Amino acid sequence: MLNETHDPALRSWVTAANDVAGDFSIQNLPFAVFRRAGSDDAFRCGVAIGDQVLDLGAVADSGVLQGLAGEAVAAGREDKLNTLMALGAEAWSALRLSLSRGLREGATQQPRLQACLVPRADVEHQLPARIGDYTDFYTSVFHATNIGRLFRPDNPLLPNYKWVPIGYHGRSSSIGISGESFHRPMGQAMLPGAQAPTVVASKRLDIELELGIFMGPGNVRGTSIPISDAENHVFGICLLNDWSARDLQAWEYQPLGPFLAKNFATTISPWVVTLEALEPYRVEFQRPESDPQPLAYLDSKKNRAGGAFDIQLRVELETPGMRSAFLSPAHICRTSYRHAYWTVAQMVTHHTVNGCNLQPGDLFGSGTPSGPGAGEAGALIELTDGGKNPIALPGGESRAWLEDGDRVTLRGWCERPGAARIGFGECVGTVLPAPAP
Ligand code: MN
Repeated sequence: MLNETHDPALRSWVTAANDVAGDFSIQNLPFAVFRRAGSDDAFRCGVAIGDQVLDLGAVADSGVLQGLAGEAVAAGREDKLNTLMALGAEAWSALRLSLSRGLREGATQQPRLQACLVPRADVEHQLPARIGDYTDFYTSVFHATNIGRLFRPDNPLLPNYKWVPIGYHGRSSSIGISGESFHRPMGQAMLPGAQAPTVVASKRLDIELELGIFMGPGNVRGTSIPISDAENHVFGICLLNDWSARDLQAWEYQPLGPFLAKNFATTISPWVVTLEALEPYRVEFQRPESDPQPLAYLDSKKNRAGGAFDIQLRVELETPGMRSAFLSPAHICRTSYRHAYWTVAQMVTHHTVNGCNLQPGDLFGSGTPSGPGAGEAGALIELTDGGKNPIALPGGESRAWLEDGDRVTLRGWCERPGAARIGFGECVGTVLPAPAP
């Protein structure tokens, strides 16, 4: 449901927020954890507005917000968003409304809120939440078919895919924040023509463009979350890169699925965009009539009418050679989350159908939202047809897989006529050489 916070005519007294091409308009108001870069300050929660961060701890101390919004902003004094995430949708919405009113042109709160701003260029981030558990889904049928064809040419899409939102339990300890670097992983691989595996630095290091979905209030173990209530358990969405070592994956993945090929690094963006901010960008959940329709517990009128989100996504790649030649990063993928085979609500409901308990701050990966067309694939393994057709890059280089020093940037945003543009910022990660033996 749209409300006054979505009004595209709203303008902020933070003038940079009125840039029509910017990510952090007054209609967005995403959350992160931050402090002044290089300082010993405690991390605290903030909201992005234009080129500024609104320090929620300082807003709480100022006493400018009352009632439920006041309760919610008090949780912003903490060094993670978990407490705010646990408060639930009514509290998040009250805070959003109060901040929207206070940041508008002509707001009487301007002087007091202005004192709580920190330039976004001067801050550093940590993970937005203590992530107890991380689950990675696989919700693009195009991605699943493309990947399946490379791993199992005769049997690309397994029969369960169109019935079950497929996922695996990932690892939270190796989730890092945008801007990080990580070492190329070592591991067992069965090289072509070899009789036995060898321990190698992965030669087929890849990206997976995904969205990260942060849980709000959880459920008690032994209970499930019906689809009608599922989105009330979702705090918001960020960008996520599920780095993947395809040579290690091909050897280890059967029969239990991804393990060391994926748990060495996952990078997420600092800003979490709330579902309320995404409301103008809901689109129909579409399931071809020729496909199995979702089982009753994964189906609802509301989910069909607007359970999917049209989030534009782009992947940029920059090599050390491009950096030293001052070339702009190459755009290697452009897709939309609207192509997902399963919605956020379906993932939440399916995850809890067995009584599994979710907790505030838990993270889901959406799976790579590859679309049907060329250039809409969110992983190199798809874009290069398993490494056979390297991507040509500016400056004459090419890439089948990531090389040391390569930097990958994910971007996400929403725009359409009649709604304000909102964005996710960026999610950046750089590959370091494998650790010295
Ligand atoms: Mn993944």
